Formats: sequence, C-alpha cells, structure tokens
Amino acid sequence: MKALTRARASWQLPRAVRIAIVAVLVGYVAVIVGGVMTTGFSIRDLATLGLFSACGVVSVEVSLRLAWPRPRRDRISRDFLGVWALPVMLLLPPVYAAVAVVVPGLYVQLRAWRTDPLKVVYSTAALGLARAAGSATFIAIAGHHASGAGLTHLFGSGRNELAVLAAILVWWLVNYILIGAVVALSVGLHHVLASLRDREAISVDVVDASMGILATIAFALRPELVAVVAAPVLYMQHQAFSGLRSAVRTDLLTDVASPEYWRETAAREVQRAVASAADLAVLMVDIDHFKNVNDRHGHLAGDAVLAAVARAIATALRPGDLVGRLGGEEFAAVLSGSNIADAESAAGRVRAAVADVRVRSDRGDWISVTVSAGVAGLAANGATLAELLDAADGALYAAKDAGRNAVRVAGPVRDRLIDLRPDLRPDLCPELAEQAGPPEGR
Ligand code: GH3
Ligand code: MG
Ligand code: MG
Repeated sequence: MKALTRARASWQLPRAVRIAIVAVLVGYVAVIVGGVMTTGFSIRDLATLGLFSACGVVSVEVSLRLAWPRPRRDRISRDFLGVWALPVMLLLPPVYAAVAVVVPGLYVQLRAWRTDPLKVVYSTAALGLARAAGSATFIAIAGHHASGAGLTHLFGSGRNELAVLAAILVWWLVNYILIGAVVALSVGLHHVLASLRDREAISVDVVDASMGILATIAFALRPELVAVVAAPVLYMQHQAFSGLRSAVRTDLLTDVASPEYWRETAAREVQRAVASAADLAVLMVDIDHFKNVNDRHGHLAGDAVLAAVARAIATALRPGDLVGRLGGEEFAAVLSGSNIADAESAAGRVRAAVADVRVRSDRGDWISVTVSAGVAGLAANGATLAELLDAADGALYAAKDAGRNAVRVAGPVRDRLIDLRPDLRPDLCPELAEQAGPPEGR
C-alpha cells in the first residue's frame, strides 16, 4: 500500500520529468535489447560480469548497517560502486555495462533503501545508459574492447589511455546529465550546481574511478588480484559511510543523539518493548529559565552550559539509556526495561546531577542551572513514542508549573504522587529531605 502511494506520488511529477523518465527507460531497454542481439556472448565474459556484480553486492552488504547514501530528489548521490563497474565498462562489450548496474542496484534497494521504486528504476537505467556510453566510447577510441586481451590493450599506448579517460568522462557526463535533468526539473537547477561544487562528492567520484582503474588492472593481470583492491575499497567505503552516519546521529554541540536519530531509535525501542511486553519509560528534560543564562552570560556561555547539562544527564542515566537533544534546551531519554518508578528515580538523579553542574563563563562567573523533567511509562501513558512524548511533555509542564527544578510523572499515575518538590522527596534526595524535615500535613 505504502509502495503504491509512493509510486502514485512519483506520477504527480511535472510533465517534463515524466517524459524524461520514460525516454530514459525506453532508451535503456533499447540498448539492452540491441546489445543482446548484436553481441557474441562468451562464458568468460559472463563470468567476469558475475565476478564484478558479486563484488558490488558484497560491497553493499558490508556497509549496510551504516548510512548507505540514499537517492534524493535534491541531490546527485555518490557511492563507491563504480569501482566494480569500471572493469566491466572497459573489458567487456557495452551491453554488459548496461546490465551490470541491475544486480547491485536492486540489492541496495532491497537491503538498504526500500525507497520509491520509480526513483531506483530511473537511476539504475540512467546509470546503465551512462556506463554503456562509456564502454562504447572506449571501443570507439581504442578500436577494440579489451576482453581477455590483457593489460596492453588497456594501457599499452597513449591512445588506449586516452580511451580509458574518455570512457570515464562520458560515463560521468551522461549520468550527471540524466540524473541532473530530473533533479533540475523537479527541484531546481541550483541543487544540481551545488552537487557539482561539492568537493567531498567530487573526491568520492575521483577515488571511485581511480580504484576502478586499479581493479581493472588487477583483474587483467590475474582475476584473483581483485581481492587486493577489494580490501582497501571496502575499508575506505566503511570509513566514509560511518563518518556520514555519526555526523547524522550526533548533535554537534552537546554530543548526545540528534533529534532524528533519537526519535528513530527510541521508536524502535518502543516497538520492541511493546512486542515483548517489557517495561520502558521516556523522560523529557528542559532547562529552567535558560533564556536568563543567555541574557546574563552570553550565548557562548549558554552553549557551554547546554553541553555540560547534556553530559550530566547522560552520566546520571545508565549507559544503555539513549539521550537525545530534541531541540534548544530540551532533552529526552528512552529508558528500556525501566518501569515508571525506576524512571522517576532516574529523573530525580538527573535533576540532582544537573543542579550540581557548575560552568565557568569567560568573565569568570560560575553558572549553575536546574532542570524540570517529565516521566511517561509504556502502557500507563501510551503505546507509541508519540504518545509517550506527549505524556512526558505534559508532565514536564506540570513540573514547570510546580515551580521548576522538579520531576513529575504523567497521567493517571501522577495523581497518586505526593505533590512535593522532588528535592524534598526522601527517595530522590535524602540529604535535602533530612535538612528540610518532614513535610507539613503529610
Ligand atoms: P523555562 O523554564 O520555561 O523552560 O524557560 P526557558 O527560558 O528555559 O524557556 P524558553 O523556551 O523561553 O527559552 C529557551 C531558550 O533557549 C531561548 C533560546 O535562546 C535558548 N536556546 C535554544 N537553543 C540554544 C542553543 O543552541 N544555544 C544557546 N546558548 N541557547 C539556546
Ligand atoms: Mg527551558
Ligand atoms: Mg524549552
């Protein structure tokens, strides 16, 4: 159903985009049909295709748990799959290059993206055409394709080297024009231009092609030498994608989870807890009168306080409790395995830990802040992350209403709680309770 809705959304694209999509798909199918009819196939060439398709699949598989860059409407995305495509492009007739995009492309879609099928079909067809054009360029300039012919046919002369270079340039050009046209028509040319100016992305393209040339040379020497190229390529890809992933996962200022990553992970933990009928609680924590800190000590000091508070929250909780910054001076944590009572005392620890934080401003003043926190428990306050956050937010407001520097529990459970400032609650902060003596009237 979801896939259907997404597919329908694709067909609401501008008319020019739909025409471009159909033209590229028709062109791609024509190249394959024409290629199949005019190419003499050999077991050896098919085995070469199989080997490099398998390399592509392995390459997707080993980085799967990282953020494999998704195709986006506003960006030309880059990966390192060209390494395994270039040998096919240079060593075999063009139809192989057109077909070689299918297996790794489908594999990424099935294992990592599950995105709009039309987007995947279009980018696969565009890339297939681009690679076939690159392959045809090589043959046109070199006067032959290098299948089974060894290294000299690839790099034996200036003309052959020129053919390799031209093949790569044609591959890039055709791919950028076909993908870029659709990006430009649907979201604007400036997105394409920005993508072409992105130095990191250009480096990926250059490294991708260079390693592809090395893979081609290795294969031409002896097929098993491809493994020597595979190791550094897979490592490099892993590093590049994990850098991407942690950048997306972490809030730069406070080093806790970014809002997107926190929500995604917390939602998954909620689902898991629902499925296994386990306890889970959500905390929402907001710094009290934080605006005053900025006003009095400046924004930079405010930033330092935010980072210190985030650290205090994370250390007051268990290592497995994911803390995230939801925005501004508001944090959230998901406590898997904790019931409401556990979570309430955890929130009390957070409150006490933050109250102990001292941050020194540039002017030498010591700054301290307090937080208010709301607690919501699975089942008692909701069965989805959204419901739990809503309930915790309500409790957080109750804590603010109660005078701040306080913890409140959401919903039905709240009414049972002693309506006290938590710093007077013996279970949360025994020292303070002792100083204050027993609360009146209770
Ligand atoms: P309350 O106790 O009701 O929560 O009062 P408050 O002042 O904390 O709440 P309010 O929402 O009025 O103000 C939040 C302030 O947080 C305003 C904004 O300037 C500050 N803030 C948000 N993000 C950042 C940030 O990244 N750095 C700094 N220094 N301040 C931030
Ligand atoms: Mg606040
Ligand atoms: Mg706030």
